[in-house]
Amino acid sequence: HRFDIPLASLEGAHKRYGRTLALDGVDLELHGGQVLALLGANGAGKTSAISLLLGLVAPDAGEVRLSGRAPGTLAARRGVGVMLQSGALPPTLKVRELLDLTRSYYPDPRSVAECAAIAGLAGLLGRRYDALSGGQQRRVQFALAICGRPTLLFLDEPTTGLDIEARQGLWHGVRDLVAEGASVLLTTHYLEEAEALADRVVVLAGGRVVAEGSLEAVRARVDQRRIRCVTT
Ligand code: ATP
Repeated sequence: HRFDIPLASLEGAHKRYGRTLALDGVDLELHGGQVLALLGANGAGKTSAISLLLGLVAPDAGEVRLSGRAPGTLAARRGVGVMLQSGALPPTLKVRELLDLTRSYYPDPRSVAECAAIAGLAGLLGRRYDALSGGQQRRVQFALAICGRPTLLFLDEPTTGLDIEARQGLWHGVRDLVAEGASVLLTTHYLEEAEALADRVVVLAGGRVVAEGSLEAVRARVDQRRIRCVTT
């Protein structure tokens, strides 16, 4: 049945960078209407998983599907919003200009005011991007990721480096999108973030899935020391 087709999936995915095995046979599936959190410590393979799903890099072995298609094609990427860790933007543009530029790529973008409200950018629209704090820049990146009304959103460590207030603000924004029907795959180091947002979690360590399921199930299955280790 076509509605059972995952929005994004890895099956037996292997990815090697030189001598580093970043992904060592990873299976994961994101289904419609879900928020899936990929938890893991530095180097666990979270960004590699996202890079494969978006077609930014090819797997050495395994199957990758985005919207039921080979990733990296225009058809697969339609409706997909992305906030990566390496999000270089034209530094001298103002926030409003960045939003207008990005909105121009989409047929039916959200208004600047709507993007600003969802991402918590009130008061920052007239500021230059390079004059913002790291946390404010993350919020701008989030606004750009959502302004095209994505139905599937990839967020790679969206709140790393944000204080708790800014983190909660971004969680609100994600919940708004989920309420509109978007599905989300996010990576995080923070157990509280998975708790706040995710229906399902996949815990990666050393390029392998070491636990998955509901947060409660994962908590019960993975010993507390390991959970703590992936959240600090
Ligand atoms: P972090 O939380 O630090 O972002 P991560 O879970 O996202 O980590 P990845 O970025 O997927 O982990 O990295 C997994 C492993 O692959 C790490 O050992 C990393 O050093 C290595 N790696 C990732 N990208 C490259 C690359 N382009 N070249 C070489 N090694 C890489």
